[in-house]
Amino acid sequence: MHISPNDKKHYRLIELDNKLPVLLIQDETAPRSAAALSVNVGHFDDPDDRQGLAHFLEHMLFLGTQKYPKVGEFHSFINQQGGSNNAWTGTENTTFFFEVSHSAFEEGLDRFGQFFYASLFNEEAVDKERNAVDSEYKLKLKDDVRRIYQVHKETVNQAHPFSKFSVGSIDTLADKESSSIRDEMLTFYQTHYSADLMTAVVLGNRPLCELELLATQSFASIPNQNLGHKEINVSYVTPKEQSCWINIEPLKEVRKLSLAFHLPNQDRFYKTKPLNYLGHLLGYEGDGSLMLYLKKLGYIHSLTAGGGVSGSNFREFTLSFNLTEKGMLHLDEIILNTYQYIELIKQQGLDEWRYNEKKAVLESAFQFQEKTKPLDLVSHLVMNLQRYHKEDAMYADYMMEGYHEQHVLDLLEQFTPEKMRVTLVAQDLQYDRKDKWYHTPYSVQPLSEAQIKSWSHAELHPELHLPEKNPYICYDLEPQELKETTVLPTLLEDLPGFRLWHKQEEEFRVPKGMVYIAIDSPHAISDPRKIVKTRLCVEMLMDALSEQTYQAEIAGMGYNLYCHQGGVTLTLSGFSQKQPLLLDVILKRFSTREFSAERFDFIKNQLIRHWGNASKERPISQLFNALSGILQPNNPPYPVLLEALESIEVDDLPNFVQAMFAELHVEMFVYGDWTKEQALELGRSLKDTLRMQNQTYGESFRPLVMLGESGTFQRELVCDHSDSALLVYYQSPQEDPRSFALYTLANHLMSASFFHEIRTKQQLGYMVGTGNLPLNKHPGLILYVQSPMAPPAILLDAIDEFLNAFYMVLLELNEHQWQSSKQGLIDQISDPDTNLRGRAQRLWTCIGNKDTNFDHKERVTEELKSLTRIEMIRFVVGILKPRTANRLIMHSQGTEHQQYDRLDVGFEIDSIDQFQLRKKDINLG
Ligand SMILES: [Zn+2]
Repeated sequence: MHISPNDKKHYRLIELDNKLPVLLIQDETAPRSAAALSVNVGHFDDPDDRQGLAHFLEHMLFLGTQKYPKVGEFHSFINQQGGSNNAWTGTENTTFFFEVSHSAFEEGLDRFGQFFYASLFNEEAVDKERNAVDSEYKLKLKDDVRRIYQVHKETVNQAHPFSKFSVGSIDTLADKESSSIRDEMLTFYQTHYSADLMTAVVLGNRPLCELELLATQSFASIPNQNLGHKEINVSYVTPKEQSCWINIEPLKEVRKLSLAFHLPNQDRFYKTKPLNYLGHLLGYEGDGSLMLYLKKLGYIHSLTAGGGVSGSNFREFTLSFNLTEKGMLHLDEIILNTYQYIELIKQQGLDEWRYNEKKAVLESAFQFQEKTKPLDLVSHLVMNLQRYHKEDAMYADYMMEGYHEQHVLDLLEQFTPEKMRVTLVAQDLQYDRKDKWYHTPYSVQPLSEAQIKSWSHAELHPELHLPEKNPYICYDLEPQELKETTVLPTLLEDLPGFRLWHKQEEEFRVPKGMVYIAIDSPHAISDPRKIVKTRLCVEMLMDALSEQTYQAEIAGMGYNLYCHQGGVTLTLSGFSQKQPLLLDVILKRFSTREFSAERFDFIKNQLIRHWGNASKERPISQLFNALSGILQPNNPPYPVLLEALESIEVDDLPNFVQAMFAELHVEMFVYGDWTKEQALELGRSLKDTLRMQNQTYGESFRPLVMLGESGTFQRELVCDHSDSALLVYYQSPQEDPRSFALYTLANHLMSASFFHEIRTKQQLGYMVGTGNLPLNKHPGLILYVQSPMAPPAILLDAIDEFLNAFYMVLLELNEHQWQSSKQGLIDQISDPDTNLRGRAQRLWTCIGNKDTNFDHKERVTEELKSLTRIEMIRFVVGILKPRTANRLIMHSQGTEHQQYDRLDVGFEIDSIDQFQLRKKDINLG
């Protein structure tokens, strides 16, 4: 097997007697063990009269096996051992995976293996789980992605399994007179789940031979029914479903044009990737590109190339345009330009050097491949085992073995109007039918002869041309020699208004780096209008930069610029050798302060739409947004931002930036394959470009409204949604490690039983949970439900009842369970950093939090170790208990629940301005 030279894990590929291939991975440094199993059975296999069966089976599989019959046993076992598990049903695969502490791996794997041959499909659980699937379906009734996907399914060849409804509902899964759903599911399980359709990955810290033994014990009993070599013989689309124009009505205000081309499955070309070659050219965003040309005409905001669904006998390739209002008037022209660009590729774009550029980037990425989390790794590799030659599982995504012009030409032959499907997603069009499951309005028309003729004879366009050679690509990368390294980042410069941190990385040893630049300015954040101006500037800058930085991103570098409560932060990532070049380009643009009026209008409208659409988000997301808006004055909620945005014009920006730059405080962190001299040099060029002379400004303050000792506050939000939602927030008055330990452990202990109580037992909703919500360094705890079943008053009763009784759950734990729960959390917190980026992020967070000993994590861990159960009970009874608690409740009454009484509890927050006059805790960073 070909593995990255940077990969220190040991691999062994075996095949069990039942023909199940298992990839064993030994990783001595992994924080946890993990396993995944994928079976080549998915919703394509659903019987026509039982749509959603494969998905339902995936849900039921977890609920009891012969050896472990108790429903929910697996979930609580994994949880208690500091692990997690999940599963998903795809078109042709269902994949299951979990991770758990090393010591519990053998027991975990034993439980996991049972699913695939000894599931009981517990009768009592059928009804509840069927409801869970139905909620999953109903929850997405207003989700545009789902709605559009379903139209997609309804407009391809109806004889192809892609056309089936994949989720399932209470109706498709109902019992029939002749047969119960459980019986049908059992038959499906017995006839479809076969070892030779499966692949598995097992990862642990023990030797390969031990892992082999574990895998054999757990998986050898899965029966092999010799079902291999499944094939689909129906076409995904026939001429009838091609050369057509589909209009779809979205709920959100979006405008999107997609051109879909239908190709054979491309997996067999994974070693050479001819389609990536085309995708790269069509999706190019630099000078002369289709994207930039259309953007400059004001027709589109963005273009993406290469998406689309795929299956074992088809691959759809789509080009999607996010349209402007003006673009809506030039649709045929946009499509013509696309064909002109395709013609250009045919005539001038077939060059081996272009292929080799892409190859160099992928090779470097493979050579310096960094670690991913065990769970991510096993669930990724288990799919690669399904798709590619098993020996290539690790290398397949990076392989570019050679340029074959003919393969690219063969693909280009398929890019014709006769084989294209055009989809236009926009409001206020003509629609004449609705899809069966989501009721999305749509219509289908054949393309006109004039359209086909014009697009078939596209000629070269003078303004469209192909990408130049990429100056950012490095062909021979090696990390630099280690200079005097320090254990912790060091402060190289500490001037008034400027601080520079640095550390050369010595563990991961890759030629990559991260640069963080936090630019604080009181002028950027002191009122909502300024906050909005800052956001506008950031959006405009990102927009203007994309043309110049696209090549850098192709070459494996990235950057981001984002607003926060103190100002803006710029980050650079990826291969470090040419990052100074990229930083230079960004900073030059930063300091020009030129703003195009046309782009401003687009971006302003985009923000208006984006923030406006927030009112169509799920109620629970709206509650979260409103919560931070109330508590963090520097982080106003969307409606406030929208109002401020209305009156801002492009002419306001230059002066604003001028004023912002006059009061700066910069904190910079250079981490990775950088020497001290290089870090100082980066700092110098930053100061020069920002013209930072004699700046003595401090960091911006980040205020947090404190709840104090005032009992319960509540605030209602009106969301136009059928579901009700409620969220309860507890805020720690202190920010010391002890409080962190208490709040985090409370959440950890609560989450599984809260979920079980509210979702599984009471079935109040599908979106249910508890979580840590630290705000401005103050730990916080939240409990939330979004419910199609009950109004906020009833939801709060259920939560309060849970909180009132929770101390008993703690009392019932035996000493072993208590200790292992704590240990599970400690393991999670003390996870080692897996890669350079992760470590950089952690250190940067410490710098931001003024934790300059970089030991916050260790201090919380120490506190956790000494926390006793009595203290936890005291915390639950004294701080969380509803009657006396200081907390904030956000809620929204669903349109389906208007007949119920309103929630009446605590003090209602009428005016946010008033509320924000309360005592605040003001922090730096
Ligand atoms: Zn599901």
